Amino acid sequence: MGVAQLTHRLWMDRALAEARLAPAHGDVPVGAVVVRDGVVVASGHNRREVDADPTAHAEMLAVRAAAAALGSWRLEACTLYVTLEPCTMCAGALVLARLPALVFGAADPKAGAVGSLYDLAREPRLNHRVEVTAGVLADECATLLTTFFRAARARSRPRGDVGSLRPRAVESHRPA
Ligand SMILES: [Zn+2]
Repeated sequence: MGVAQLTHRLWMDRALAEARLAPAHGDVPVGAVVVRDGVVVASGHNRREVDADPTAHAEMLAVRAAAAALGSWRLEACTLYVTLEPCTMCAGALVLARLPALVFGAADPKAGAVGSLYDLAREPRLNHRVEVTAGVLADECATLLTTFFRAARARSRPRGDVGSLRPRAVESHRPA
């Protein structure tokens, strides 16, 4: 594994730590960090539910905080690490911020705008293109999401539901 890939994994680990903060307030675990010259400039995690704000995605919060910290809307020499492929809004914001580089973890086939449904980060008709590295710690990033959604489904299931008992019954009859 090359040095660049190791560095990417290190920072993605920080983005994952951010993501893990979101479920405490009922939000889907997505986390982001903005790094410049080997230092975290800003970070953020999804706050859509707790803030009742459709734009409170991890990337938006991290980009806004980074711009405030740097005193510039241009995120020069910055790399954004995010656990999930950005949506149309966030990918648009990265282009507007003239972000040089994006690294993301899991792909989002339902809403991703950096290769899945659209490719706004590398859209030749826009005035800026973002260098993209995809799939860094993708399994860890995806597992965090699937675990969250599985727990949310279990909570929303009515008590006494036969479906909630079935997996345990099946397991108990499995040979050791
Ligand atoms: Zn988004």
